[in-house]
Amino acid sequence: MDCVKKMKYVLVSGGVVSGLGKGVTASSIGVVLKACGLRVTSIKIDPYLNTDAGTMSPFEHGEVFVLDDGGEVDLDLGNYERFLDVTLTRDNNITTGKIYQSVIDKERKGDYLGKTVQVVPHITDAIQEWIERVSLIPVDGSTEPADVCVIELGGTVGDIESMPFIEALRQLSYRVGPGNFCLVHVSLVPVLGVVGEQKTKPTQHSVRELRGLGLTPHLLACRSAQAGHILNIYDVSNIWHVPLLLRDQKAHDAILKDLDLLSVAKTPCLEEWTARAAQSDTLTNPVRIAMVGKYTGLSDAYVSVVKALQHASIKCKRKLTIEWIAASDLEDTTAKEAPDSHTAAWNSLKGSDGILVPGGFGDRGVQGKILAAKYARENNVPYLGICLGMQIAVIEFARSVLGMAEANSTEFDKETPHPCVIFMPEGSKTHMGGTMRLGSRRTYFQNADCITAKLYGKSDYVDERHRHRYEVNPNMVEKLEKSGLMFVGKDETGRRMEILELPCHPYFVGVQFHPEFKSRPGKVSAVFLGLILAASGQLKSHLKKLSSSIMISNRRVENGISSAMNGHTNGNGNSSPLRYPNGNGNHARA
Ligand code: GLN
Repeated sequence: MDCVKKMKYVLVSGGVVSGLGKGVTASSIGVVLKACGLRVTSIKIDPYLNTDAGTMSPFEHGEVFVLDDGGEVDLDLGNYERFLDVTLTRDNNITTGKIYQSVIDKERKGDYLGKTVQVVPHITDAIQEWIERVSLIPVDGSTEPADVCVIELGGTVGDIESMPFIEALRQLSYRVGPGNFCLVHVSLVPVLGVVGEQKTKPTQHSVRELRGLGLTPHLLACRSAQAGHILNIYDVSNIWHVPLLLRDQKAHDAILKDLDLLSVAKTPCLEEWTARAAQSDTLTNPVRIAMVGKYTGLSDAYVSVVKALQHASIKCKRKLTIEWIAASDLEDTTAKEAPDSHTAAWNSLKGSDGILVPGGFGDRGVQGKILAAKYARENNVPYLGICLGMQIAVIEFARSVLGMAEANSTEFDKETPHPCVIFMPEGSKTHMGGTMRLGSRRTYFQNADCITAKLYGKSDYVDERHRHRYEVNPNMVEKLEKSGLMFVGKDETGRRMEILELPCHPYFVGVQFHPEFKSRPGKVSAVFLGLILAASGQLKSHLKKLSSSIMISNRRVENGISSAMNGHTNGNGNSSPLRYPNGNGNHARA
C-alpha cells in the first residue's frame, strides 16, 4: 500500500441508546476493510475518568481485558483483537483520565510556560496528538503503521463527558481533510406496533445533534430488528455474520470512497467468516460446560472466556451450552438457606461435560469453587482452572489428598497453617507501580510429554497474559508433585508455577495465566481446545492424530526430506533434550 501516505480514519460514534453493538459494528468494519487488503488498527475512546479499566468492577462494567503490555483495558479491545487478529497496546484505549493526567503532568512540569491550561485547546490538542501517535503503532506484527485506524467513541453523542472528544475529533477531521476521514454513526431504528413500523425520528435527532457539534456522518448504520434500511445492522444469529452483513450492503465501498481508497482496495473475500458464521448456526451436537464463578448470568464479566469456549467448540464441531453456576450455590450453607438453589446448582454441575473455574478476586464463592474442582477431580470430569481456578485446584488437592484440611490461599486466610497459595508480587523494572503481575510472561514446559505442551504444539515455551498477585507456594510444590499434581509449566526462575496437570485424570488442567485473552476464532486457545475436546470425548483421538502427524514429520527429518524441526516437539518425548532454563536467564530458542 505504498500509495497510502496519510493515516486514514474511520470514526464510529453512537446515538440514541447505548448497547447498540457499536463495538461489534466498528470491529466488523475493520474486518471488511482488512478483507479489502488494507491493514487496520483501532482505538477505543472511553470518556470516563478512570485512568484504565483495572479498578472497575466486572459487575458494572464487564470484564477487564488484559493486553500483552499489561494494559488493563475496556473489553471492546478484546473485540478488536479477536476480529482483526492484532495485538493492541494500552495506549489504544484512551480515557478522559489518561488525557487529563497527561495534561496535568505537563502543567506541573511547567510545559505550558505560564499559560492558562484549558479544555480547548489543551485537552483537545492532547486528544488529537494521542490519536495520531497511537494510530501509527504497528499492531499486526509488521514494522509499518496500518493504513486505516478505526476509532470507536464510547458512550452516546450528547453525553457531557464525551464533548471534548467530539470537539477534538471535529478538529482532527478538519485537519486531515476530506478523503482521510469517514464518520459512521451507529443509531437505533425501533420497530413499533403490530404492523412493525420502523421509526426513524430518534436517529434523525441524534444526527442533528452530531451536526450541531460540527460532525456530519458519512454513513448511518441503523440497528433494527428488521432488514431493509440504510446500512442495516439487523439482529443476527451470531456476531460473525456482522462483517458479512456489512460486506453484502457494500459498506466498504462507501467507506473506501470517502477515504479515497477505492482504487487500491480489492474485493473483500470473507470465506473464513462465512464458513464460521454458517457452521456456528448449524451445530447441533451439544457440549455443556459449567462455568462456576462469581458473576453468573453476567456473560460480559467473562466475555473473553465465553468467546474462547465458542472458538474451541466450533473447532470441535459442538454446539456450546454454558451452565452458569453461582459458586456459592454449591456450598453447604446454601443447602440450608436456599435448598432449591443448592440442588439446582449441583444438578447442573453434574449434568455438565466439563467444568471451568475462571479467574476472580475476593473470597465469595471460594468454597463452592473448591467443591466443583473436587467433583471434577474425583469423577474424571474435564476441568480447566484459570488463574484463581488453578489456585482453587491446588487448595482442593492439598485439603483432600494431602490431608491439610485448612490449606488455603493467604488471599483468603492470612493465618492458614498450610499456605499453598501465597502473595508473590512482581518486582519488575519494566512494569512499575502496583503489585499485580500483569501482561505477557513466558512459561517454560518442564515435560514435552504433558497434554498442554502437545495441545500447544510446542515443547519449549508459550507466552500468555497474566493478571494476579498470588501464586502456588513454591515450598509446597514437592509435596504436591509427590502426590501426583504435576507442575508442567513454570516461569524462567522455576519459582512460579504456571501450568498444572493431573496425569491420572482425563483432563485436569490449571493455568496461572489467562489464555482466553489470546484466543482468536481462527487461532483457538490450546487449553480451551483441550477442555472441549475432552468434554466431547475427542481428546484421545486428537492427541493420537497429533502424535502420528509428528511421527510422520520426524520420519521425514530422519530421511532428510526436511532439514529443520521449526522448534516443534518431536513427539516421542525422549530424544529431544528439553530446553530448561539454564539459570542465567538465557533460554535457547529452537
Ligand atoms: N485473586 C487471585 C490473585 O490475585 C486470582 C486473580 C485472577 O484470577 N485473575 O492471584
